[in-house]
Amino acid sequence: MMPAAVSVLDQSVAYLKGVGPAKAELLAKELAIFSIGDLLYHYPFRYVDRTQFHRISDLMPDSGQVQVKGTLRHLSVKGDGRKKRLVGRLRDEDGAALELVWFTGVTYLEKVLNVGVEYVAFGKIQEFGGRLSISHPDMEDVSKRELSVQSSFDPVYASTEKLNRKGLDAKGRRKLIKAVFEKISARDLPEMLPDYILQKMKLAGHAASVRAIHLPRNQAELNAARKRLKFEELFLLQLRLLQLKVGRKGNVKGFAFEKIGPIFNRFYEEKIPFELTGAQKRVLREIRRDLGLGVQMNRLLQGDVGSGKTMVGLMSMLMAIDNGYQACMMAPTEILAYQHFESITEYVEGLGVNVEFLSGSVKGKARRQLLERLAAGEIQILIGTHALIEPWVEFPKLGLVIIDEQHRFGVKQRAKLWKKSEPFPPHVLVMTATPIPRTLAMTTYGDLDVSVIDELPPGRKPVTTVHFTEHRRERVFGMIREELAKGRQAYVVYPLIEENEELDLLALEQGYEEMLHKFPQPEHQISIVHGKMKPADKDFEMQRFKRGETNIMVATTVIEVGVNVPNATVMVIVHTERFGLSQLHQLRGRVGRGADQSFCILLSSVKLSADGRQRIKTMVDTTDGFKIAEADLRLRGPGMIDGTQQSGLLQMKIADVVKDQEILRVAREIATRVIEDDPQLQKPHHQILGAHLRKHFQAIKGWGLIS
Ligand code: ADP
Ligand code: MG
Repeated sequence: MMPAAVSVLDQSVAYLKGVGPAKAELLAKELAIFSIGDLLYHYPFRYVDRTQFHRISDLMPDSGQVQVKGTLRHLSVKGDGRKKRLVGRLRDEDGAALELVWFTGVTYLEKVLNVGVEYVAFGKIQEFGGRLSISHPDMEDVSKRELSVQSSFDPVYASTEKLNRKGLDAKGRRKLIKAVFEKISARDLPEMLPDYILQKMKLAGHAASVRAIHLPRNQAELNAARKRLKFEELFLLQLRLLQLKVGRKGNVKGFAFEKIGPIFNRFYEEKIPFELTGAQKRVLREIRRDLGLGVQMNRLLQGDVGSGKTMVGLMSMLMAIDNGYQACMMAPTEILAYQHFESITEYVEGLGVNVEFLSGSVKGKARRQLLERLAAGEIQILIGTHALIEPWVEFPKLGLVIIDEQHRFGVKQRAKLWKKSEPFPPHVLVMTATPIPRTLAMTTYGDLDVSVIDELPPGRKPVTTVHFTEHRRERVFGMIREELAKGRQAYVVYPLIEENEELDLLALEQGYEEMLHKFPQPEHQISIVHGKMKPADKDFEMQRFKRGETNIMVATTVIEVGVNVPNATVMVIVHTERFGLSQLHQLRGRVGRGADQSFCILLSSVKLSADGRQRIKTMVDTTDGFKIAEADLRLRGPGMIDGTQQSGLLQMKIADVVKDQEILRVAREIATRVIEDDPQLQKPHHQILGAHLRKHFQAIKGWGLIS
């Protein structure tokens, strides 16, 4: 086979006119632009509209950046020393005049600008003493204005201070991109979307769109290019994700759990303390089907806080045990892991299932013995923290891994678990209480199967959420008192942000003092828990609160996930504005777990940023985790959502999963049909697509290890 010709796109930017080694190095360092292709696919983030000319008589002090065309009528140097400046006057067709001023480059500009010549001046309008002017306008001789031949919208690229200083400012970058287009031809930008899709979606071609995204001639051309490139980006990503999903189903064999056995049945008939909700039953059926197929399961289980995911996890583990396998459940914090251990031990009591707990604080002889029993296959369910993925933790027959609160675990940690079993990877069920908006689920977890528990156990009353500003603290204390008088318990949560740990801890301790003062002992008992405490001390306090020996829990966000105390009916969040929406939602989920009406009290400063206000409003308005997740996504943007950063999937060039939901939906739909019809992309009309995907995605590492 002939080696493929090296594309001009793969050449270093140093081959471009006007780019020497210094600039090339700077582009690489500042923007990770190495090749001509990198430069080409680094799209502008906005445009300056140069199709419109303003009439000078229409200009206002707040007109902003404007472009005017007129004849230079006057040019002179005024003042001297530091006050030296060049002043010009431009008169347009209507006879109105505008002042132009330069404070630097005076001598040079005086030489190159000529009175009597027609110019286009571009810059920001300013007002001095009632007169409008532009300082340091861009000046272009109309007769030599070459840019207008190609482009009427000037692209503006993301840049850095260093690039600007080295001549790679807006203007410099435009020159570069023009140099790129002089060097390449449409042949260097082959189409990768099949004709029938282009026609169906009425999309412009790839080469034309790439050109138009940089140098659009008009708004219509720019819009068409945007639509095409967004679709292209989202469609190719969906296609790749679906290929992975189908490929995994076809290739990654897994243990087949063929039967529902005696342990599961006894548990179901004798032990389970409540009727499963319809949603729990449905999800269990989905999991059961997966586990029986002989193909490795990779399933994401989403369900709001309190929806009963733990029970689903436990029953899935029982399926594994009945088929002769071990199972483990991993949680992000010691408290949460231990709580799972306790409740699961209780649930399976009398069934002859060995459940053990492992975390960093299980040490010495206890640890050694536990590891030995695990390796001998005597332990059937191991519950714990990150300690489970340490290399010396050996499971002879690990069939199922359950990961609770997935967003705290990195991709790499999950990959480590994969390696813990032979000859197949264990089945994986990832449980998350952070609902993931549909669009994000499609992009970040588009290759996983997803189950949703969209129903809460019966009898839950929605938590009432109220917002108070700081100066109404007394009112808040009053509400806490009322609940405590009824025998209920309360949480008071302070933010703990790592960069500011000491200050935060101080605030927490002051808060604790204040609570001691407002809620005197012995009628009241107050626990305090924070991340800096020893695990054993933390646990001691948690247990006291759980048993009802203390009635107020002052804490940092360590209680965020999973802690279950049904008698707690008040959640006070101090400095609410410092928490993110998903955190607030998690915290609120700590109450409303029993039969009593619960309250979430959001305490904030009086002064709030627009975002802070919006977050609080969202919390007051809804308890629906999916709505909250959507709001979070809109407020923070996709890159900020927990757990997505490291996936690298959302580093999109042009599409935005929030703003382009409709394009994403259509892209997913078409990609699904393509993969169903032709999974290997081998049909003649799909070959260009297949070739492109292979080339494009082989460059991105770690794709197969998303879960
Ligand atoms: P999640 O992990 O989804 O936040 P949990 O599994 O901790 O929720 O369940 C919350 C509480 O609801 C637990 O006390 C659990 O025993 C209870 N629970 C779970 N399923 C049901 C059900 N079907 N009916 C009644 N209570 C349930
Ligand atoms: Mg849970």
